[in-house]
Amino acid sequence: MDCYICGGEMQKIKKDVEATWKGRTIVFRGMDAWVCEACGEQAYEPEDVRLMQGLIQGTLNRREYPEVMNVEEVADLLRVSNQTVYNLVKSGQLPGTKVGREWRFFRAQILALIKGENYFEQAVGLEAREVEGNAISANNTETIQRHLAGMGS
Ligand SMILES: [Zn+2]
Repeated sequence: MDCYICGGEMQKIKKDVEATWKGRTIVFRGMDAWVCEACGEQAYEPEDVRLMQGLIQGTLNRREYPEVMNVEEVADLLRVSNQTVYNLVKSGQLPGTKVGREWRFFRAQILALIKGENYFEQAVGLEAREVEGNAISANNTETIQRHLAGMGS
C-alpha cells in the first residue's frame, strides 16, 4: 500500500491504540496499523476502527446508564427535557412501560433507537472516507475521541 500523504511505502505493523475520554483510557493491544517509512503517517484498517468505536461506545453506555431507566435518565441520554420524553412516549415514538404512575424504559430499546448501524459512520466516517485508499488516518482517532467526549459529558 502506498502512503496517501507522500506516496511512500507503508508497512503493516502491530500497534497498541489508546482512546481516552473523561479521564478513562481503553487500550487495544496488537491492532493492525499501516506506517509510512518515509513520512511516518499512520493508518488503521476501517474494520478495526469500527470495532474500536463499537467497543468504546458500548463500554461508555454500560457505564452511564442502568438497564431500566427512568424519565430523567432517558431525557439526559437523548438531551431533551423530561416533558419531551413524556410527549414522545405518549405519542408512541418512544417505547416505555408504565409501572404504577411512573414510566420505565429499557436501555437497550432506547439505545437501539438512537444507535443505527451508521451512527459512527455519520459522526466520524465521512472525513475518513475522503482519504484516498481505504485505510483511516490515525488523525481520525482524535475526531473519534472528540465525539466520545461530547457524548459522555
Ligand atoms: Zn508517507
